[in-house]
Amino acid sequence: MAFHAEFKNISGEDTYPLSQVVYRGSDGSLLEVSHNRSAWKSRSPSEWKDLFQSRRSSFAPADLSGVWSKRELVLPELPIEDIITLQEGWSPLFNAQKLAKEMNLKSLHVKLCGNSHTGSFKDLGMTVLVSQVNHLIKNKVPIKAVACASTGDTSAALSAYCARAGIPSIVFLPAGKISVAQLVQPIANGSIVLALDTDFDGCMKIVQEVTADKSIYLANSMNSLRIEGQKTISYELCHELGWTLPDTIIIPGGNLGNVSALAKGIDDLLALGIIEKKPRIIVAQAENANPFYLAYKNNFSQLEAVQAKKTLASAIQIGNPVSYPKAEAAIKKYNGVVEQVSEQELADAAHRADKIGLYCCPHTGVALGALFKLCEKGVISKEESVVVVSTAHGLKFSEFKAGYHEQKLEGISPKYANAIHYLPANAEAVRNVLMNA
Ligand SMILES: *Cc1c(COP(=O)(O)O)cnc(C)c1O
Repeated sequence: MAFHAEFKNISGEDTYPLSQVVYRGSDGSLLEVSHNRSAWKSRSPSEWKDLFQSRRSSFAPADLSGVWSKRELVLPELPIEDIITLQEGWSPLFNAQKLAKEMNLKSLHVKLCGNSHTGSFKDLGMTVLVSQVNHLIKNKVPIKAVACASTGDTSAALSAYCARAGIPSIVFLPAGKISVAQLVQPIANGSIVLALDTDFDGCMKIVQEVTADKSIYLANSMNSLRIEGQKTISYELCHELGWTLPDTIIIPGGNLGNVSALAKGIDDLLALGIIEKKPRIIVAQAENANPFYLAYKNNFSQLEAVQAKKTLASAIQIGNPVSYPKAEAAIKKYNGVVEQVSEQELADAAHRADKIGLYCCPHTGVALGALFKLCEKGVISKEESVVVVSTAHGLKFSEFKAGYHEQKLEGISPKYANAIHYLPANAEAVRNVLMNA
């Protein structure tokens, strides 16, 4: 049996070839990339592990990518020469031993997905989407450009991968709601940058209208190709942790594509026979943009979209998450929990973790804040092994980092602020400060 993948809608039996420009099933439900998993059985679990291990020592471009080194499980039929890669994946796994000790955990690791070409985990999904579009264009499918609505990081990734491939890109951003670093990225990479006077949900609406014309390809995470790249985070974690997963994985959620991807990767590992025990998934949201938390509290009776309020965790300021049905299934399947944290909690959590050598973005602060809260509540117990998914690089959020230490973040009293000492240029003044440090 051959490795094969196609689009399938999650609530029905419609299937479409991956070469078709299609984002939803005939009933409007989300699509997923569905693999012929029985073909995976042609290799035993240990043969799969050996294959992935051997690619770890190869310098072939596809093997250097955390995503494409698992190509049979991602897009098995994509010709290798059509891959557009920026060496995404294989991000560092930070051993946060000191924090684990403070929290009485067996272990705590932080997966630094932001240590990537454009500074966020969005690279993992975008390499797959842009590679597939590159393949389609080579095969004369009439696609003129790729577009996305973004809270910042998706557009940065889209721009970079499209620039690498020589494909035009268009990004829709909520004006004034993303960091300067995030805004500069698509400008630098030559995208058409449209800053709209609305929020992310408003941008999402417009981009869907514009891409109804199939010559502009839609790159939002509703596009299930991105999930195929992002799911490799689970394979990578498993490989790095000696072919096991931790008891609990905590991930911040906005549009909920990433948690869906994490779960799909775990589904795959179970199907491959590489793991047997299911880990627990915890989604962390900002209180100011918490529709998934509210749905969880309601036993998922329904999703009520909210008007997302301003949050420091700007990439998850989303009130109407597109991937909600997939995320609900993920939480149910993986014994999941959803927690929310306040602005104060996320800011303090990020900077508490910085003290042991991390450099956390506010979204990582959301996940860490949930960790601290759930340890206190006893929902996460002593002796658990935990991985926190860090979604972006702190360097993209300098206003947040500097503002915290300068005590300039509105409504936040920073517990871990480290103020600069402004001194006259004389040694005596310096000595005085150092003596009291
Ligand atoms: C996109 C993003 C998220 C949220 O991921 P979803 O798939 O939308 O849930 C979290 N953090 C950062 C930094 C992001 O860019």
